[in-house]
Amino acid sequence: MSAPFAPDGSLTAGLNAAQRDAVLYLDGPCLVLAGAGSGKTRVITQKIAYLVRECGYAARNIVALTFTNKAASEMQHRVQGVLPGKSGKALTISTFHSLGVRLLREEARHVGLKPQFSILDADDALAIIQDLLATTDKALLRSVQSTISLWKNGLIEPEEAERIAASAAERDAARVYRSYRDTLIAYQAVDFDDLIRLPARLLEDNAEARERWQSRVRYLLVDEYQDTNVCQYRLVRLLTGPRAMFTAVGDDDQAIYAWRGATVENLAKLTTDYPSLKVIKLEQNYRSVQRILEAANNVISNNPKLFDKKLWSDLGVGEPIAVLAQDSDEAEAENIGMRISAARFERRCNWRDFAILYRSNHQSRVLEQALRTLKIPYTISGGQSFFDKAEVRDILAYLRLIANDDDDPAFIRAATTPKRGIGQGTLHALGTYAGNRHVSLYAAVFEQGMEQALPERNLRFLREFANFIQRMQWRAGRGTADAQEAASNEPAGEILDDLIKAINYERYLYDTFDERAAQARWQNVIDLMDWLKRKADEDGMTLMALVQHVALITMLERGEDEEPDAVKLSTLHASKGLEYPHVYLAGVEEGLLPHQGKDDEEGDPERAAESLATRIQEERRLMYVGITRAQRSLHLSWCKRRRRAREDVVREPSRFIKEMGLDAGAVPDANAGMSPKERLGALKALLTRPAA
Ligand code: ATP
Ligand code: MG
Repeated sequence: MSAPFAPDGSLTAGLNAAQRDAVLYLDGPCLVLAGAGSGKTRVITQKIAYLVRECGYAARNIVALTFTNKAASEMQHRVQGVLPGKSGKALTISTFHSLGVRLLREEARHVGLKPQFSILDADDALAIIQDLLATTDKALLRSVQSTISLWKNGLIEPEEAERIAASAAERDAARVYRSYRDTLIAYQAVDFDDLIRLPARLLEDNAEARERWQSRVRYLLVDEYQDTNVCQYRLVRLLTGPRAMFTAVGDDDQAIYAWRGATVENLAKLTTDYPSLKVIKLEQNYRSVQRILEAANNVISNNPKLFDKKLWSDLGVGEPIAVLAQDSDEAEAENIGMRISAARFERRCNWRDFAILYRSNHQSRVLEQALRTLKIPYTISGGQSFFDKAEVRDILAYLRLIANDDDDPAFIRAATTPKRGIGQGTLHALGTYAGNRHVSLYAAVFEQGMEQALPERNLRFLREFANFIQRMQWRAGRGTADAQEAASNEPAGEILDDLIKAINYERYLYDTFDERAAQARWQNVIDLMDWLKRKADEDGMTLMALVQHVALITMLERGEDEEPDAVKLSTLHASKGLEYPHVYLAGVEEGLLPHQGKDDEEGDPERAAESLATRIQEERRLMYVGITRAQRSLHLSWCKRRRRAREDVVREPSRFIKEMGLDAGAVPDANAGMSPKERLGALKALLTRPAA
């Protein structure tokens, strides 16, 4: 990457004229509308530097919003290079969601929350919906959850949802929505959607809070603006107020979150809501060679145009795009692995220069297996990490609660998994009581007032549970003021073993899941326990210290600070905004990319209801995103047969291959005659030969 500043310190060196305009423009709202790789994100980082270094903005008054945590940490990293030291740290560079958390923590009492309110993740939220619906029908649950989420993102309250519900299913969902909202209030908890919705509501209703935040956010920058939803747009408007000092950058051709309620209309809306809006277009692409860019332009030209855009690059023509037809997904995975190995030798580059992208999470399993067999290091994003697995989270919930009994979601999760006679009714009463008394759920259990709030039997179950947690806390050394003394407490390993035995977790797994699933989950629990015990032994940590350590690790995992030298495996969705020298796009088949709608694994009813054409257009944008991640070489593959639910299904190449202007059977490869294995062998032989 070139230096952000020229040696003379000029801020706009390394920018083209249009980018410079976008960075320097401060007379009002500004929209940068441009295709992939044209330097939109670079405009944002440069503009932050410009605001601080040249325009006298205090770093704490600048907020930049990104779509993912990863994008935020990457931007933070880039800006740190331009603004070293303290001023860089005072900037707010975060996702919409993290900004929402910050705002809510400060303004909690204005929205009827206690400051240490809990944040439920999608799993926690789904569990609540499951209890409300009293069903285990996964498809139904997910569909209700996504319907509620769409309502929330559209700023629609349950009462209004009940009014506008168009079908029996929607009316049911609206009723669940109402109980769900009430449940969350009782728990003093919010879900991910609330992190945007509640701040927007607050700033709308509360003039004082609005002024407070508007004078704090003196300049706002938004990346990937095309994927904002109604709620996020509202928040942007409210945060910037009448001064409207903001820069948004986006590309309508990369809008890939309509299924989650994002709306490209937000782009068009900016032009009408802000008549003085300055629109800047960027046309030079600095990422990809011409062949790749041309293929991307070809594909996207099949979509109706919202805004006219041209994109060119002077990085040379580049090598032909490879298209490979494979016999099975295993063959595809092995082939990709071997081709990457060979290419790494041939091109003398690093593992991290390669990315394998795919449409659906389930494709990663076969790819991972192949890479492991070939001993190719890889990292995976957009998938599930070990610490996100339900069984791991169950056990960690107990440990979190033992360490910090203010953690209400941990309390809820631990108290109800495995079931021990504590149901939603009991938790609801406890949540209401705790909310009124402004204490944690755990603390509330011990209060006398609870004796009026619950029947004796229900309270007994709660107190048994809380007493159990308390005993564990003492054994683990909590309550001992002296750390030295705490360290002399029982070894963590023994406490862990007793904990797992006492809650009967293994039996719970076998009662709840089929044998194979239960076994796999139990193995994960054993792995977690072994890891915890090993840590405790090696580093002499108490259980308390250990739990805090785990929380940190989880955060580090999510932060992904130092990228190891490894091939990147990623879903197309998670690859947005990123770039790689060499990209392998797997499973470019009809039914996978474009994805077949109905039995979509994500199971969105909206999705099925959407007209086919709209869906294909979104899939096409996803394809466009995938192609434009590649800088120097692009390789597509598709399988003639793919295993699906234990059956081999015959597949056709994706229509997008043809739309790119390519032949689905072509293998433009200098060494086409050799199998990848032979080629790899030949290359290795070459490398081990002494230099001439
Ligand atoms: P996407 O739409 O995929 O998010 P983008 O428009 O945000 O892409 P960037 O990621 O900002 O594009 O830039 C793409 C690449 O081009 C980056 O490696 C960036 O450093 C480089 N780049 C951007 N502008 C210039 C420039 N004026 N000169 C040289 N390189 C540039
Ligand atoms: Mg970008």
